[in-house]
Amino acid sequence: MGSVAVSRLAVAEDLPAASIVDQVAAIARRELAPQAAAIDEGAVYPDALLRRLGHVGAWGSHQPANGMADLRCAIQSIAAVGEVCGATAFMAWCQNTLVWYASNSNNPELVAKFAGKFASGEILGGTGLSNPMKSFFGIEKLKLRGRRVEGGYIVRGALPWVSNLGPDHFFGTIFEREDEGGGIVMFLADCSDPAITLQPCKPFLAMDGTGTYAVQFRDVFVPDELILAEPAGPFVKKIRAGFILLQAGMALGLIKDCIQIMDEVDAPLSHINRYLPQQPIQFRELHAEFEKETMALARDPYNSDDSYWRRVVALRLRLGDASVAAAHAAMLHCGARGYLKSHRAQRRLREAYFVAIVTPATKQLRKMLAGDEH
Ligand SMILES: Cc1cc2nc3c(=O)[nH]c(=O)nc-3n(C[C@H](O)[C@H](O)[C@H](O)COP(=O)(O)OP(=O)(O)OC[C@H]3O[C@@H](n4cnc5c(N)ncnc54)[C@H](O)[C@@H]3O)c2cc1C
Repeated sequence: MGSVAVSRLAVAEDLPAASIVDQVAAIARRELAPQAAAIDEGAVYPDALLRRLGHVGAWGSHQPANGMADLRCAIQSIAAVGEVCGATAFMAWCQNTLVWYASNSNNPELVAKFAGKFASGEILGGTGLSNPMKSFFGIEKLKLRGRRVEGGYIVRGALPWVSNLGPDHFFGTIFEREDEGGGIVMFLADCSDPAITLQPCKPFLAMDGTGTYAVQFRDVFVPDELILAEPAGPFVKKIRAGFILLQAGMALGLIKDCIQIMDEVDAPLSHINRYLPQQPIQFRELHAEFEKETMALARDPYNSDDSYWRRVVALRLRLGDASVAAAHAAMLHCGARGYLKSHRAQRRLREAYFVAIVTPATKQLRKMLAGDEH
């Protein structure tokens, strides 16, 4: 590509993207920050705020155009949210992932009906791909089963945790065909279907305001217009790097705030905190390195090279480890100040563990890098 084309791309892409991230950051500071504690406690599911973020373009920038997609703005927007609230950054990932599925589908009816509404935030939802992602790497069996009927499939089974849900929400997930050995189908589940029930989960360590439910499918009829991909295998290969890379936003935002927490106690406590082995400068360097690698990979989410995929998986593993390390260091730097329930340091620590355990969890990532995939 010539330099003229590159500079035109830079103007066309980077300016609107930058303004989306700025608007998301402003909404996060002004409207999300006052609600962060209530979301953490599970008293609030911030659906109005998620729709508002949709209005400024937070869920739309990564939709493919002309066979290309760029995840940088979406990741930076999630990071801006994650600097303030890890639970909402996770919901932002859920919504962006739903858009990623719908906008990559080869089903024209589905794309026409849903991609725009998910991208604008008019319809909210998420993803139930933890179980399938684990099943692809031999960790557990698929929990949903389906069989072909006239005009669609009948699906049954249960998923233990799906987030960013409510009575009128949608999420993407996968069932195994019981009438065709080895067949797998990816589809959109419509939570308003009476044959789908959402059961509240027991309280979590964090993430209680994320609209997370156990979802039961009791012989649900899934019409052809809700089929994302059939067979699902090649589709999953196409969307999997994006699925993982978008999670980087959760970690980047959280690590940045942990650095800020350490900086905030520097004036009163630097005389003693300098004896701690991990200092904000180290996390600043690490954050810059992660951001650079994330942005490089995020420009090219359809890259099918094995070396690219391994870089994505290795980055995701390091981001989970660093989130926990940064939040742990922030706790030690704060001392008793951070041990107060009202201080966000302990919330950040609880949120950091989620980055490390949400699929693909640290243990799964290590299995994948060990080459035990199939
Ligand atoms: C707050 C929260 C939100 C989540 N949101 C989503 C989401 O939106 N979409 C999604 O697909 N996944 C979601 N998950 C699941 C998540 O991505 C991981 O799959 C999960 O944390 C476990 O991953 P793991 O690899 O550590 O598996 P492991 O914990 O090692 O194993 C998981 C398996 O163990 C069993 N198991 C574990 N805990 C229990 C329990 N308490 N009761 C009964 N069986 C149990 C189940 O069979 C389960 O499939 C969420 C989890 C949490 C905690």
